[in-house]
Amino acid sequence: MGYIKYYGHSAFELYLDSKKILIDPWLTHPLKVEEPSNVKDVDYVILTHGHDDHIGDALDILKNNPKAKVVAIFELANYIAEKLGDPGRGIGANMGGPALLDGLKVAFVPANHSSPIGEPTGVIVMGNEAKVYHAGDTGIMSEMELIGKIYRPDIALLPIGGHFTMDPVEAAYATELIKPKVAIPMHYKTFPVLYGNPEEFKKLVNERVPNVKVVVLNPGDTWKIDL
Ligand SMILES: [Zn+2]
Repeated sequence: MGYIKYYGHSAFELYLDSKKILIDPWLTHPLKVEEPSNVKDVDYVILTHGHDDHIGDALDILKNNPKAKVVAIFELANYIAEKLGDPGRGIGANMGGPALLDGLKVAFVPANHSSPIGEPTGVIVMGNEAKVYHAGDTGIMSEMELIGKIYRPDIALLPIGGHFTMDPVEAAYATELIKPKVAIPMHYKTFPVLYGNPEEFKKLVNERVPNVKVVVLNPGDTWKIDL
């Protein structure tokens, strides 16, 4: 059965269709709950953009998991694969129709943000067990409605911290645009500047779109996918 484990900040482990996927694996942040060296049996590391708090511990994890590949927008995947010294371990894709990965589909979509390497993205990981949209770092954008219509994500992982991304108010509107079954807040509390409060997000979503379930995970929590 699939699960979603939260490592804090924007770092998640998805277990979908018997594949282990890490997204934006920055584990060594101020709310750290796991050493990167303890993360094993990884199939894919997906990066949404090139900021340090999203590339995070990807290189260490990829070195410790020699079968794992990095999946990201073209320039970023190449950059990481080059750092690993193995161009074959980078799967560079771009915005648009999904990349096909051994049974999973992975679609990169725009994010309203910046990135030092390639364009900033969100990503939708589609398996038989669930479709999960990790929005990356982003402000709200009307494209989220289209993303929701095309990919129909079951679960949306949305930044709520404010300052660099959406805050709870914007993220609640984003939830209304995307219409997932479940929304999980991320990118808050890691630093004082990320002030967004998950309980406020939950309250606002309950008001705006009461049929969406908000699941608040603390760093280290695992949620068994239950749709
Ligand atoms: Zn960023």
